[in-house]
Amino acid sequence: MLYNILAMAKYMMRFRRNVYLDYNATTNVSRSVRRTMIRVLKQYYGNPSSIYTTGRKSAEIIDTARRHVATAVNANPQNVYFTACATESNNAILKSLSRCHYPEKNKIIATPIEHPSIHQTLAFLASQNIVVEYCPVDSEGKIDPKRLESLIDEKTFLICCMLANNEIGTVQDLPAIAEISRRHNILVLSDCVQALGKIPIDLKAWGINYASFSAHKLYGPKGVGALYIKHGSPFEPFMHGGHQEGGIRAGTECVHNIAGFGEACRNIKSLLANTRRIQKLKSKCIREIRKIKPDCIINSPESSCLANTISVTIPDVHSADIMAILDSRGIAVSAGSACSSGDDKPSHVLKAIGLSDSAARQTLRISLGNRTTIGDIRYTINVVREYVTGGSVHVNMIRPVEVTEDIIFDEQNFILDVRPQFLRKIVKGLPNSHEASFFSIKRYLHLLPRDKHILVVCQGGYLAYMVVHFLKSKGFENVSCLRAGVVGWKEQCRDLYKKYAGQNISILEPA
Ligand code: PLP
Repeated sequence: MLYNILAMAKYMMRFRRNVYLDYNATTNVSRSVRRTMIRVLKQYYGNPSSIYTTGRKSAEIIDTARRHVATAVNANPQNVYFTACATESNNAILKSLSRCHYPEKNKIIATPIEHPSIHQTLAFLASQNIVVEYCPVDSEGKIDPKRLESLIDEKTFLICCMLANNEIGTVQDLPAIAEISRRHNILVLSDCVQALGKIPIDLKAWGINYASFSAHKLYGPKGVGALYIKHGSPFEPFMHGGHQEGGIRAGTECVHNIAGFGEACRNIKSLLANTRRIQKLKSKCIREIRKIKPDCIINSPESSCLANTISVTIPDVHSADIMAILDSRGIAVSAGSACSSGDDKPSHVLKAIGLSDSAARQTLRISLGNRTTIGDIRYTINVVREYVTGGSVHVNMIRPVEVTEDIIFDEQNFILDVRPQFLRKIVKGLPNSHEASFFSIKRYLHLLPRDKHILVVCQGGYLAYMVVHFLKSKGFENVSCLRAGVVGWKEQCRDLYKKYAGQNISILEPA
């Protein structure tokens, strides 16, 4: 009897378990961080700026956390400032330094593979007369320090180079870049978000001027980041209205988040020790993917790479499709395009290392973490194998060019648009479509016709694909997905888009 139950459980596990392989996006909050935060929330509610005991206790919590963060990156605590996130830290430095230097100096040199919090801030600054020059990277995402040095001129005030890349895992030779900057008397900002907890960081030895960090990438809470400013480096506060954080960052501190960040950094040694185990799992995963698809391309470098990150291009496999299949089997990974946000744009990082748009759309990022087990890898590989060898549930995909007037105005077709509101403002919907929210699709089931063909559409194709899977699991047999979404339709059927987009759209009212 017991044997049968176990056998059944094992059988079921082949089909569904929860496997999180997106640790570069965010991590779970560790038990000790959670305990610390709850204790702070319960006991230390005082405003850290208040001078009485209750307030001073909160201030002490912040001081302790600052020491832990500083120790984790080998910095002096007085050079570490808490912010709301690394995006804020990066914005603060880039905008502040541009203000300090312009117009005498107006040039920033950056890598083309920076996180959007740098990349898009630089694009904004470029619109404000700052010259941004990108130093090309090689096919592994590496910067050649000599090439970077050749871009420096008398107008350059900052080099901006991340330590470890979030999509492909490439680790840059930051000490060499810092050395160049010292020779030329130029400041250096490094986004160290993905590196913290994965590789050792030694800010004192490297001598860089600014670095940014985020707690939620190392099993800490979301909503708290840090900014390192080397003593004597210029900075103009970005937030005004308070004296907190030595006047660098105004606003009452989020004490429990800061305490959680400190605790996460206190665990740094065990995080670093775990990277050997994670590296073995990563190697196993790469070996197995290569067995399934010998022509796959591993974009992550073999050396100088984070131990947890795999970027893999699987020819002929659209990442939106396989991500949806993986998701339907409980596996979370991410893709080489922003398909999760719906617009299916190829990632600028993959483009910078030389991938074509279509290769980027066939790329997955698998990032491992503390909870990843060999069982997770085996299960994931099985699902990938099933999909690649054609063993998964078939989803009927309709190409944008097939969505002609015949399809749009055929009464037997029910067009279901599952895009979030903000995307509907960017690209108009298909005519005669019915709008429903992807996030609560369950509540619309009773409104969907079982006797018609349902064509599910979203911005880039990914959300629709997931909805088709869901509808199939609920017994809807005649459902299809619009590949490349309304963006693809707009691009490939320009005339139809101009003539009909946005017409006769109805909004479904959920139960
Ligand atoms: N920099 C890198 C390299 C990242 O991976 C991320 C988060 O994905 C950030 C910056 C932004 O961090 P936060 O979520 O704290 O704003």
